[in-house]
Amino acid sequence: MTNHEREMFPEYSSPKSKTMQYIKLRNHICAKWRKDITKFLTKEEACRGLSEHQIAIVSYIYDYLNRYGFINFGKLKPRIYSLTEKRIRTENSKKKIVVCGAGIAGIAAANRLKSFGYNVVVLEARSRLGGRICTKKFENTFVDIGASIITGLV
Ligand SMILES: Cc1cc2nc3c(=O)[nH]c(=O)nc-3n(C[C@H](O)[C@H](O)[C@H](O)COP(=O)(O)OP(=O)(O)OC[C@H]3O[C@@H](n4cnc5c(N)ncnc54)[C@H](O)[C@@H]3O)c2cc1C
Repeated sequence: MTNHEREMFPEYSSPKSKTMQYIKLRNHICAKWRKDITKFLTKEEACRGLSEHQIAIVSYIYDYLNRYGFINFGKLKPRIYSLTEKRIRTENSKKKIVVCGAGIAGIAAANRLKSFGYNVVVLEARSRLGGRICTKKFENTFVDIGASIITGLV
C-alpha cells in the first residue's frame, strides 16, 4: 500500500492479512481496467464476479482509484454518463479552473478536471506543450531529449 492509500484506508493498513485483502482487490480493479484502457471501467464491471462482501469493499476502492486517476485516464473513448453524473458535470461546468503549466502534471490535471465537467484553461509560458518531456525529430528519427522512461506502478 502507498502512504496515500494507508491514509485513505487506515482500516486496511494492518494486520498484514487485511492489507493483502486490500491489495488483492485494488489489483483486481486495476487489472480489469488494463485489459482495455480505451474503455471506461464502470463500478458494475469492476464488481462483476465478486462476492457480496468483496463488492462492498471494492466499491470504496473503485471510487478512490477513479477519483485520483489511477484508472479511467488517458485514451478513453467517449462514454455515456448516468443522470447523476450528468447533473454533477453540468454543475461543475459553471466553474472555471486555470491550470498553470502544460507539463505532464498540468496536462494530466486538466484532463482529469475536464472529465469531471469543469471548464478548464491551461496557461503555458512556452510555445510548446510537454514541459520537461520533449521529443525532437532528427531526420527520420524521433529522439527524447527530456524524459523517456515511463516509471511508476500502482
Ligand atoms: C533530461 C531529463 C530526463 C528525464 N528523464 C526522465 C525519465 O526518463 N523518466 C521519468 O519518469 N522522468 C524523467 N525526467 C523527469 C520528468 O521529465 C519530470 O519529472 C516531469 O516531466 C515533470 O513534469 P511536470 O509537469 O511536473 O513539470 P514540467 O515538465 O517542468 O512542466 C511545467 C510546465 O509549466 C510551465 N510553467 C512554469 N511556470 C509557469 C507559469 N508561471 N506560467 C505558465 N507556465 C508555466 C513550464 O514552461 C512547463 O512547461 C527527466 C527530466 C529531464 C530534464
